[in-house]
Amino acid sequence: MSRTDRPPSACDIAVAGGGILGLAVARELKAREPDARICLLEAEDRLAAHQSSHNSGVVHGGVYYEPGSLRAKLCVEGARSLSAYCEEKGLPWKATGKLIVATTEDEIPRLDELERRGRENGVPGLIRVGPDEIGEIEPAAKGLSALHSPATAITDFARVAESFAADFEAAGGTIHLSSPITGTDPHGSLRTPTGTVDCGQAVFCAGLQSDRLAVAFGGSEEPRIVPIRGGYLKVRPDRQEIVRGNVYPVPDPDLPFLGVHLTRTIDGSLLIGPTAMIAGARDAYEISRLRRRDLRATVTWPGTWQLMRNHWRASLGEAANSIRPKRLTAEAARLVPGLSPADVVPGPAGVRAQALDRQGSLVEDFLIEVTDAAIHVRNAPSPAATSSLALTGLIADRVL
Ligand SMILES: Cc1cc2nc3c(=O)[nH]c(=O)nc-3n(C[C@H](O)[C@H](O)[C@H](O)COP(=O)(O)OP(=O)(O)OC[C@H]3O[C@@H](n4cnc5c(N)ncnc54)[C@H](O)[C@@H]3O)c2cc1C
Repeated sequence: MSRTDRPPSACDIAVAGGGILGLAVARELKAREPDARICLLEAEDRLAAHQSSHNSGVVHGGVYYEPGSLRAKLCVEGARSLSAYCEEKGLPWKATGKLIVATTEDEIPRLDELERRGRENGVPGLIRVGPDEIGEIEPAAKGLSALHSPATAITDFARVAESFAADFEAAGGTIHLSSPITGTDPHGSLRTPTGTVDCGQAVFCAGLQSDRLAVAFGGSEEPRIVPIRGGYLKVRPDRQEIVRGNVYPVPDPDLPFLGVHLTRTIDGSLLIGPTAMIAGARDAYEISRLRRRDLRATVTWPGTWQLMRNHWRASLGEAANSIRPKRLTAEAARLVPGLSPADVVPGPAGVRAQALDRQGSLVEDFLIEVTDAAIHVRNAPSPAATSSLALTGLIADRVL
């Protein structure tokens, strides 16, 4: 079935958002309810336009997450399902493995804690290695101790999302591009610029716009989304073999980000990043992009100021990394000392949809809100792309 720019006037279930999550949810719902009329509405003129095509492309093993959390459970489960799916569909997939490297003594207790979490979460093949083994796995990396997750893989999440879309359409679902949901009318129908959609149920997987849609549809006032820009550097082609797989630092325990890492992408490039800086727009792929509405939302949310007060040192460091490639390269060179500023050129960028509460705490786990009118995914940070097939099961259970 071909994609249209006009939404249908009616359907049984509408899914908002054509990123990897919305597409996985639509696909799952259609598989469970083949006779239901299910449509997916995407604001942009293409699928996977935002986070799902602007990320590190790493299929995480599940080391980091607090045991018992949704992220812990759904990452391990999701990575397993995604591996099988990519194999079945012939999608790009490479088990490059990952080293999480401690370079200073004070990082060792934090690495111990990551090891404990990884074991409790059931990360396959996880082992602790010393300096010699670090050199055997990644000859250019140096450290005191490391965790090696051999099952960590890389893929192209945008292609995975396209494949979910193809499955959904083959089963009879319809996809409507350039169809942003702008609100609801008094009868509960979804409003779009080209007409209203009368639907029995709605599921919102709207990423960077998720808070706005949730509040407009009667959801709770918090958390709100703060856009966190992640910029990358690209290692020059003649130097990119310096790293074979993925090399990560021990992350800052106070921040829900993984720290500046080196990642191979499925096209063979080597990326350094991403940074983590509050952005002036929810689509700040260029660092200078500002949108008044987005900026106002960020600066008027009390949590933003509390976050900056609590993490002023990390915030300044991240801002400096974002504008000074030399500093960012130096961070990566803590893990791979042979890297120098001459080895890098500017790389791509993504913007994370990070939920932040009024008190300034970043919401770490996946968060789904169910209201009378709809189901809203309120926080789907990394590893939501890895977890998409597992997270989808949970959402579909709630819808049906
Ligand atoms: C820099 C960076 C690195 C990352 N690295 C990894 C990684 O290595 N591994 C991993 O697993 N995860 C990673 N992630 C996280 C991962 O990319 C996201 O968790 C995942 O893509 C979220 O998918 P989504 O469908 O919820 O959001 P999105 O892909 O952002 O999709 C949301 C969609 O909703 C649409 N939309 C918005 N408003 C409306 C509206 N009103 N009506 C209709 N449609 C609307 C948008 O246009 C968009 O297409 C990373 C993210 C970033 C930013």
